[in-house]
Amino acid sequence: MIKGKGAIVTGSTSGIGLGIARALAAGGANIMLNGFGSADEIERLRSGLAAEFKVRVGYSGADISKPEQIREMVGSATRELGAVDILVNNACIQHTAPVEDFAEERWDAVIAINLSSNFHAIKAVLPQMKKRNWGRIVNIASVHGLVASVQKVAYVVAKHGVLGLTKVVALENATSGITCNAICPGWVLTPLVQKQIEARAKEQGVPVEKAKNDLLRAKQPMLQFTSPEQIGALAVYLASDAAGTITGTAVSIDGGWVAQ
Ligand code: NAD
Repeated sequence: MIKGKGAIVTGSTSGIGLGIARALAAGGANIMLNGFGSADEIERLRSGLAAEFKVRVGYSGADISKPEQIREMVGSATRELGAVDILVNNACIQHTAPVEDFAEERWDAVIAINLSSNFHAIKAVLPQMKKRNWGRIVNIASVHGLVASVQKVAYVVAKHGVLGLTKVVALENATSGITCNAICPGWVLTPLVQKQIEARAKEQGVPVEKAKNDLLRAKQPMLQFTSPEQIGALAVYLASDAAGTITGTAVSIDGGWVAQ
């Protein structure tokens, strides 16, 4: 159902974004990758996906904290893939500190990358989606769009904002064949989370494996991580015709985290 569509996945050089890009490519979509990393590694990912799934795969090094670079990324994706029919806003950063110690420039960076970038990318793709009367926007939010945790003020605020943005875009485009939904993962074992686990292990003087289990035990009743592949499959479903009337929702995929 997504065969031949053009898709941008921000932050797709790693973790969940890469899982989503792979799943969309497996469904036959042409992909614009985005994110940071070594040029060789990114080229290996790009050409590997193109060869494995026989789709067009481009790469944009846009820094999505910069609105101008987001617009350029949408322009080059439109030229290289023919169209942007699917937009997955996924890139993010994390910073942890109590509110009174939270560095102001970190606040600005997290809000720019985790929230404002979604607005700028959506604004840039909507006109062409409207022209074709078809579009799928999937915002990767988090359980932290629905509930809070300590020390993550900017991340929690940004993710709550993403859910508000999702609803407004869904309503404004309800009769345009465009849906806009958010995915709210709990813990997914990606480089972002691995770094947090290693920091906790160091802080508490415990082995990494114990820190990993403690992390799950504190929040995620199923005591297992969701995989990037599972998030990818959910994104493909939301992009499919089967999900054509699902819009403005926040879909949790969190091992029971927010059921508590
Ligand atoms: P990750 O750190 O593995 O990947 C983040 C990606 O974003 C990378 O490709 C990185 O290069 C890119 N990126 C960062 N800053 C960027 C910028 N300024 N411009 C362009 N690209 C940039 O993270 P992840 O764990 O895969 O997280 C992906 C998404 O899933 C995020 O929105 C995150 O909030 C959400 N999420 C993750 C978890 C989890 O447990 N991992 C849980 C809930 C939600």
